[in-house]
Amino acid sequence: MKAEIISIGTEILLGEITDTNAAFLAGELPQLGIDLYWVTQVGDNRGRMLEVLHRAWNRSDLIILSGGLGPTEDDITRESIAEMLGEETRLDPDLEKWLRGLFDRIGYEMPERNLKQATLVPSAKAIPNPKGSAPGWWVTRDERILIAMPGPPAEMKRMWKREIKDELRLVIGNVVICSRTLKIFGLGEAQVDEMLGALLSSENPTIGVYAKQTGIEVRLTAKADNEEDAKCMITPMEGQLRSMFSDKIWGFDDDVIEQVVGDLLLDQGLTLATMESCTGGLLANLITDVPGSSVYFKGGFVTYSNEMKAEYGVDSGLLAKHGAVSSQVSEAMAEAVRNRLGADIGIGITGVAGPEKREDKPIGTIYIGISDRKETRSIHAIFPQHRPRIKRYAVMSALNELRHLLLQSQADSNR
Ligand code: ATP
Ligand code: MG
Repeated sequence: MKAEIISIGTEILLGEITDTNAAFLAGELPQLGIDLYWVTQVGDNRGRMLEVLHRAWNRSDLIILSGGLGPTEDDITRESIAEMLGEETRLDPDLEKWLRGLFDRIGYEMPERNLKQATLVPSAKAIPNPKGSAPGWWVTRDERILIAMPGPPAEMKRMWKREIKDELRLVIGNVVICSRTLKIFGLGEAQVDEMLGALLSSENPTIGVYAKQTGIEVRLTAKADNEEDAKCMITPMEGQLRSMFSDKIWGFDDDVIEQVVGDLLLDQGLTLATMESCTGGLLANLITDVPGSSVYFKGGFVTYSNEMKAEYGVDSGLLAKHGAVSSQVSEAMAEAVRNRLGADIGIGITGVAGPEKREDKPIGTIYIGISDRKETRSIHAIFPQHRPRIKRYAVMSALNELRHLLLQSQADSNR
């Protein structure tokens, strides 16, 4: 089913209000298995609204409108729908009674202008709106459905949830959408896209590639009559992706990396300590976002200056020789904090968060040292971005490196 959303109101086009109605509805449609093809915004202008309505009627099976159902001169949604359909609006006696009752109850005389809110066309039935004075319209004709709802978000949402969603489900039959997200770090968006190649044109399941702060997400989405069938469609393709991206995949669905590494540390009974320079404690912060992290996280130092690095165990000769932003110093930081705090694993992060270069190293240069009881090594990357993103990326890289180390030690101990 091809759906289209039309948000009506000049205020939207002037940038005075944000079209949250369309965003809300767009988020609802996948749950019903409805494919949204277009979202259009149009002002309170009869000619343009008619143009948009005709186009929608010609290309979509389901058209969902919000706005312009009020009583005023510029609320012309009903009139425009009627004109597009070539149908006459007429006053509906039941609606009129309800509307007059509404005004009676609040003790106001009803302005005659409001009467148009009690009108219908032959193809439309009214959708109740206990939160306002504008009932919605549900139009069924020519194998199409057109639904018009009031603009105020609270009224629209209530109408959608209570009066429309289940009814639509009945009309279109039960369609279930299942999705599975694979989270990848260490490959760029374009690389992932290229590796996926022909799989990207798969129609069911579909594959989407999204760049996030935590790396790249690949989402598989399948549509079927029931959940079991949808999952069966996802499983083989997930298998293909797992072998394609292997250990570049750090998690699935709602996983967060700090929890993933926390679980690995816990499983292996290992402890961690950190020494951070350019990330200013962000790594320790993230690690301690996980409840229960005190079991495996010994603590961390933020050694921003060279003096403090030296004071906490980094050899000052090394600092002078290689500079603070170097693989040697990141490794020395990892070793120093591991020794100092008596942890199994130490991580050291140093780099250039910008916006100035440092020690002639380009902005976004990061070194991550990692040290366990067997060896100390480091990785190096350049991520030329803004300061907060560089810091976030450095932390992500460090956690991912830790994940690799823990997977390796898990594999070694299983051997
Ligand atoms: P009313 O009876 O209040 O006039 P209406 O159905 O005619 O309702 P509009 O006049 O188009 O709706 O919009 C009324 C208010 O609802 C707007 O001022 C705005 O605050 C909110 N609104 C309308 N459309 C949207 C939208 N697409 N997204 C978010 N808010 C909206
Ligand atoms: Mg209005």
